[in-house]
Amino acid sequence: MKILVINAGSSSLKYQLMDSASHDVLAKGLCERIGIDGRLTHKVPSKDLKKEFEIPMPTHSEAIASVLDALVSPEHGVIKDVKEIDAVGHRVVHGGEKFAASALITDDVMKALEECIPLAPLHNPANITGIQACQKVMPGVPMVAVFDTAFHQTMPEKAYLYALPYEYYEKDKVRRYGFHGTSHRYVTARAAAMLGKKAEDVKIITCHLGNGSSVAAVDGGKSVDTSMGFTPLAGLPMGTRSGDLDAGILEYLMTKYGMDIKEMLNILNKKSGVLGISGVSSDFRDLEDAAKGGNHRAELALESFQYNVKKLIGAYAAAMGGVDAIVFTAGVGENDAATRMAVASGLEFMGVKMDAEANNTRGKETVISAADSKVKVLLIPTDEELMIATDTAEIVGKH
Ligand code: AMP
Repeated sequence: MKILVINAGSSSLKYQLMDSASHDVLAKGLCERIGIDGRLTHKVPSKDLKKEFEIPMPTHSEAIASVLDALVSPEHGVIKDVKEIDAVGHRVVHGGEKFAASALITDDVMKALEECIPLAPLHNPANITGIQACQKVMPGVPMVAVFDTAFHQTMPEKAYLYALPYEYYEKDKVRRYGFHGTSHRYVTARAAAMLGKKAEDVKIITCHLGNGSSVAAVDGGKSVDTSMGFTPLAGLPMGTRSGDLDAGILEYLMTKYGMDIKEMLNILNKKSGVLGISGVSSDFRDLEDAAKGGNHRAELALESFQYNVKKLIGAYAAAMGGVDAIVFTAGVGENDAATRMAVASGLEFMGVKMDAEANNTRGKETVISAADSKVKVLLIPTDEELMIATDTAEIVGKH
């Protein structure tokens, strides 16, 4: 099946046209500046082709229309007719407690997505707009929603409940949801395949380390805990996000500097994390360069990040009563050998032994632990689009 995968943001929209059987990416690209002016970058990997266009995109509908035009274009297209697209898979950030798996989009599902808006006020409206734009431009084509939160719906109550008055959970749905679920699920399946075992038979800790980062404990193929929480602000220090912190700090800083909660959250989301500590950059490549040049705060930012990942690995091994494999994925996890090594060293007591040479790899599935390491350490490039395309083909195939 030819599946169009859509990841709609408020002013941008990423797309990939995939063949769900061969896993080939036929074309991919990005619409930017939707609602401002409009720019389309369109790539055809098999031809090494990249085209950029200025196209007016007052709304997401024009953006999707421009994507379809590019896909069928005689010069740089990859299909003859839009009808060749069998289905559309949409990334949706928040599915609340309603969605523990991907779902065929119906009127009822759209209603449920609207109900999840208060849980993800920045992301879900953009995802919904993307779906509606596709429905307008491609009427009758089946569509599937794939949720960032769904994989973590298997967490037990003790892992997802915050120690707040219980009514905030019952009435207001305040709980840990977790994110990056599509990525954690994808690398879990690949890790089991690499180990030659069924996902049901292994305990895996998946470390999705990118600009946003989260770690998950996956026991028998099911997420049993994860570091992001009610929002993607929680857990590890990230590129610009603070991760976990003492809520008392908010009151202290807001009172001292006369900030309102919006200003405070802007600092926690955009000016904190490794950028905040280093004052240099949110990008690990810049931090490593600066640290090599003797910048103490850049070194400290890296150390703080690595230390926090290591602590979570210890915590999740304890939570699961052991671990068979640790997986590194996403921008930092796939590319940054020094961070992987710093996270995994010192874990020899729990059976982790790295292979420095094997670890010196980037972006391809590799066992990076030593042959005699009790716990296998794996580098697995994530592929959320492939997971979305696979789910979409499977769900549409059943209907
Ligand atoms: P992601 O959010 O998964 O796209 O990851 C993006 C982040 O990956 C960037 O901000 C960088 O910090 C990091 N990254 C990408 N390439 C490298 C690299 N070669 N070495 C270290 N970090 C990298």
